[in-house]
Amino acid sequence: MTSKSIFTLAVHAGERGPRPDFTPVVTPIYNSTTYIYESMEDLDAVFARERPGYVYTRYGNPTVAALEKAVAALEGGEEAMAFASGMAAIHAALLAAKVEAGTTVVAAQDVYGATYALLSRLFSTLGVRTHFVDITDLTAVEQAIVEEKPRAVLFETVSNPLLKVADTPALVEMAHRYGAEVIVDNTFASPYVFQPLAHGVDYVVHSSTKYLGGHGDVLGGVAVTSAQRCVTLRELTKLVGGNLGPNEAWLTMRGLKTLPLRMVQHCRNAAQVAAWLQDHPRISRVHYPGLSDHPQHEVATRLFRPGCYGGMISFEIADADQARVFAFMEALQLCLPATSLGDVYSLVMYPAHSSHRALTPEERAQIGIGAGLVRFSVGIEDVEDIIADLEQALERSS
Ligand code: PLP
Repeated sequence: MTSKSIFTLAVHAGERGPRPDFTPVVTPIYNSTTYIYESMEDLDAVFARERPGYVYTRYGNPTVAALEKAVAALEGGEEAMAFASGMAAIHAALLAAKVEAGTTVVAAQDVYGATYALLSRLFSTLGVRTHFVDITDLTAVEQAIVEEKPRAVLFETVSNPLLKVADTPALVEMAHRYGAEVIVDNTFASPYVFQPLAHGVDYVVHSSTKYLGGHGDVLGGVAVTSAQRCVTLRELTKLVGGNLGPNEAWLTMRGLKTLPLRMVQHCRNAAQVAAWLQDHPRISRVHYPGLSDHPQHEVATRLFRPGCYGGMISFEIADADQARVFAFMEALQLCLPATSLGDVYSLVMYPAHSSHRALTPEERAQIGIGAGLVRFSVGIEDVEDIIADLEQALERSS
């Protein structure tokens, strides 16, 4: 290289050294978008998928592949595909399940707001009909499946913000009996608490922005499924291009390493906070699957890791309107009034002005979201500090 011009050296010098005889302990961030091989035949074979390798990052990337392997292992699935966001993963799973013009989806009525809008506002314009149903009402779900003959049934294993728990095995059995594929969003539970693929689910999707990443610093999504379905996801993504980038994959993988440790603390803290809130005179209702009065406590106990009910809670401040709830949220000194969930930090959110803003107060009341409802993503801080913060904020805002 030394005889070359400075223009050429600036571009090539130092790159593509001898193949290393060492293995990095941590997967490096492969920012290269393209790859070269010893021969053109090798490159051709990779293009033809006759040998493993990478040609272009929209088709696959070694750092992203490491994350995909890790999430597939944690969910007990054959393969996974990582996306730029949870929404991209949900979109891709719907397309891979052959949801197309003239077909129907049966979906939980309380899916995440953007998922609801994706189906009701975007897919509807492409000729896809969605029938929304209370996913905890198995009779209503079966009736919807029989009448609609859907291509896919989509629901969240634990719903937002009322923490309803779906009876995944019963829903899978029902959907498969009528030839529908099952897509579940396991974001709230995380694979530590619940592994839906073990119950026959076809696609598990995550917003890895939440518990998988866990630190509030990286957006992403993952779909976990069979090797065969993953080929379809990859072919679709070559066209649609919602891939996760290698830097984001690396950060997510770093977060993933402590997922079980974090979840132990999230679950333990949430259980204690829920019990404390339940006894508080200013709290009229607590939604937490670990509480014996939760409508699906039995389902959660049957399906979830023993003694673990997740890190999400929602609660109703008695006789509170929006102003009182805002006063409470502003009085918090440790817990942060911010969107998102599943981070190491405790995050408090007001569903009526965020995820369910588009609904009228009557519509919100009908699905159980009152003016005093607060959603709480319990962090991994010391639980005594979390409770003390809630206590002082309830006191100061009363
Ligand atoms: N699914 C659930 C349950 C969510 O809570 C969210 C986001 O809050 C999403 C999907 C969408 O994920 P993302 O924001 O990573 O696109």
